[in-house]
Amino acid sequence: MNMHMKDFTEIALELPREVDREVAGDIEKESVFVSPMIDRIIVNSDGKTARLVTRPGADLQVATDKALRFLAVMVRQVSGFEIKVFVDTKRKDTGPYQIGVNDGLVERGWMHDYGKGQVAYSGPVLKLAQLINEKSGQLYHAAFNAIDGHYPAMIDADTLHKCGYFDSHPNAVTFVGNVVEDFDAIEEFRLANSCSEGALMPKQEHIHHDGMCLNPAACFPCYPTLTGQKFVEGQCYTWLGRVFRYESRNINGLDRLYEFNVRELVFVGDEDYVRSCRAKALPIVEELASFIDIDCQVQTATDPFFATVSAAKKFWQAAQEVKNEIKIPALGNDGSQKMLACGSINLHGNFFGKRFDFTCANGEPAQTGCVGLGIERWVLAAFTQHGFEPARWPEAVRNRIFS
Ligand SMILES: [Zn+2]
Repeated sequence: MNMHMKDFTEIALELPREVDREVAGDIEKESVFVSPMIDRIIVNSDGKTARLVTRPGADLQVATDKALRFLAVMVRQVSGFEIKVFVDTKRKDTGPYQIGVNDGLVERGWMHDYGKGQVAYSGPVLKLAQLINEKSGQLYHAAFNAIDGHYPAMIDADTLHKCGYFDSHPNAVTFVGNVVEDFDAIEEFRLANSCSEGALMPKQEHIHHDGMCLNPAACFPCYPTLTGQKFVEGQCYTWLGRVFRYESRNINGLDRLYEFNVRELVFVGDEDYVRSCRAKALPIVEELASFIDIDCQVQTATDPFFATVSAAKKFWQAAQEVKNEIKIPALGNDGSQKMLACGSINLHGNFFGKRFDFTCANGEPAQTGCVGLGIERWVLAAFTQHGFEPARWPEAVRNRIFS
């Protein structure tokens, strides 16, 4: 079979092994990274079969082979680890969840969606984003005596490599490209665009990557600044970070952005200190959720690693219980309820201390942990749970964002 199809084609596949909904969800999400020929792979509700949707022009045999190789590694994921819930807040607002929040925010002129995973916002959306950032910053100062900082949005590839990011999430990286420092290449690019309708990119061979990337995890830029330091007592740092994750076709309003903001908290010290910080972070998430009056849970979780390393790394994370996720109920585009991951609380062991050479009192590599709050997702979750009627919002929030 070597047909070239003009349209999207659906091919029925059998999975190498039956999967549960959790693994099925990962397969569907990661399937956009399998091949430019593949639109996505949807696992049927039986958990045993799937539908491969190929894009126009796909070589069906090649696409099918690639899909099967992807599925072979993805079905190895072990799921079904007991999910432990550490925080479970319930809102007082008794109104229904609001459907179509993304569209509602755009209609009201509070949000502009550029369509590529980036949004601009103003009015109540901006005020709520600022309020969540400020409130969490205040709580971090009070509980951890955290030091404020600011870090760049771009990050060196060597730093990302040291952080292990290329090994775990190679599909999510964004490289910054520049036109090669060549008079003729630059002039060719200028001329081509001076009379064109839309933007024309430079030729592939005229773009070079000098090793700058867009930062894909809020805490990474902090670690190089700690090199050579000895943390006799623990220390916390907090800031608002700009984060970029290439999501391909998975982008979807405030649910899944390419570029977003994270209120980050990093703790550095010995194991006791870092573990005590994680414990202290839980009631803070609870307080923040109660302040905004939303249903919210913190529970054990794993990261969406790239297919080939997914099974092993997820198993390690789940077994060690090093990742807790902040999950806030929201609605999917079809109105069904889903748990939106709005942040995470992570323990890294001495991984970063070793890689970036900073120590604790006994001279051993220091341990680290972090808490990241995805600001735009908190905003989406809050509007989903309270809707657009100011009266339904808690007074302290309402007075601030609708005034
Ligand atoms: Zn982090």
